[in-house]
Amino acid sequence: MNKTAVKDNPEPAQVRDQKDKYVLDNELFFIKDGSSYMIYSPLKGAIVRVNSAALRALKNINSGHPGKKFLNRMLSLGIIGPAGSQKDAVTVIDEKPRPQTSITLFPTTRCNLRCSYCFASGGDRSVDMSYETAVIAISHILEDCKRMKRIRLSFHGGGEPTMNMPLIRKVTRFVRMVSESSGINPSFSICTNGVFSEDNARWIAENINSVTLSMDGPRDLQDLQRPMRNGGSSFDNIMRTVSTFRELNKKLNVRTTVTANGVDRIKESILFFKNLGIVSTIQAEPVFECGRCLKMSICSPSPQVFLRNFLEARSYAISIGMNLHYSTGPLGEPKTYFCGALGHNFFVTPEGLVTSCLEIARLDDPRSAHFIYGRIRDGEVQIDTEKIALLRKRTVFNLKQCQDCFAKFSCAGDCPAKISYLNKDMYDTSNNSRCEINKGVVLDEMRTMLRERSGGEHE
Ligand code: SF4
Ligand code: SF4
Repeated sequence: MNKTAVKDNPEPAQVRDQKDKYVLDNELFFIKDGSSYMIYSPLKGAIVRVNSAALRALKNINSGHPGKKFLNRMLSLGIIGPAGSQKDAVTVIDEKPRPQTSITLFPTTRCNLRCSYCFASGGDRSVDMSYETAVIAISHILEDCKRMKRIRLSFHGGGEPTMNMPLIRKVTRFVRMVSESSGINPSFSICTNGVFSEDNARWIAENINSVTLSMDGPRDLQDLQRPMRNGGSSFDNIMRTVSTFRELNKKLNVRTTVTANGVDRIKESILFFKNLGIVSTIQAEPVFECGRCLKMSICSPSPQVFLRNFLEARSYAISIGMNLHYSTGPLGEPKTYFCGALGHNFFVTPEGLVTSCLEIARLDDPRSAHFIYGRIRDGEVQIDTEKIALLRKRTVFNLKQCQDCFAKFSCAGDCPAKISYLNKDMYDTSNNSRCEINKGVVLDEMRTMLRERSGGEHE
């Protein structure tokens, strides 16, 4: 991903001669915001607020009479450039395929919870990954890891990974051993529901670098949305894990799912997580209506209501020293594809299928035709490279409906798995109710940046 800091201080003036001809940046957006306009160049990392006269001057940059100061300012931000200087967006963002040094294993489909909205209907099947499958999968990326001197092993999946703790421990040992003998720097991460024994909590705290806890907040919300398999409370079990982690000073990231039922409590949940004492980063996403969610009649909040509550909660989070994220953004880090599912992820299911998406792990999912691109067979990983190439083509430049969207380099066409589910075509981003959220989150970041920078002054 190309990082472009959003420009704050303009560089020195570059106007050479008033007769020079200028062109506007190729990717420039004019957004009406109240009585003024925001001019936004996501690839140049520039944003300014102007009045309508300045906007007119910019649009007629070669025929009007823009002042020298204005020209200098626009030049230094990259909003305009000397004629012929503008590069195509594709060449500004250079996202080469990376060496594969990262692998995610799904240790099991079993689960000790029965979350009301589980996309994978976790726990409805009972398949564990074998140690042999894990070793074959890891061995497949070892050459790249040796070359790059790093490996990242993650545990995730359509069930609760810690339900297959023997595998997690054994595979972690294996990776440590191989890393030591090959001069590789290993790191480990897990995404878990936090319901496991104290012994496992201690082991995870001591052996896994990054832990993401899926949890929905205070007791009533958590127990309603994420009960134990037998319908009982999961809250106290998680609190036991949190207390062990606290004792060992182990930090947690939190991933929280927002339903129509809990949407007006995001702020309350932020405070709840802060009070746990070991959480600083939270990602909140509206539930996507699929999987068990449909049987349980769990509803997603309306985009407007989610956006309002999310933005309010984000300001609150900042005020109490917490970070609240959503999957779009942040500003200043333009991207051309939404996530690693677009030909970069290497995820292995318990049955030994290779998928690029966390949510698509079974062959009976119609989307598997695109996202499941390999399998372990005859002791080796067999990859369909054509499928990877096709996934990598799903960049924002190839999404017709996204071309005029100012959020295009923050959102990059949104989650292809959800879009495929909605429209049966990952290239068709129409009818996506998340667009309203995606744009709203980016717009809010733009306003915040302008406010912080200049107190809202106009150019
Ligand atoms: S495609 Fe969507 S569901 Fe799949 S990994 Fe990416 S963000 Fe997650
Ligand atoms: S917000 Fe919607 S239109 Fe804009 S880039 Fe994302 S998917 Fe495309």
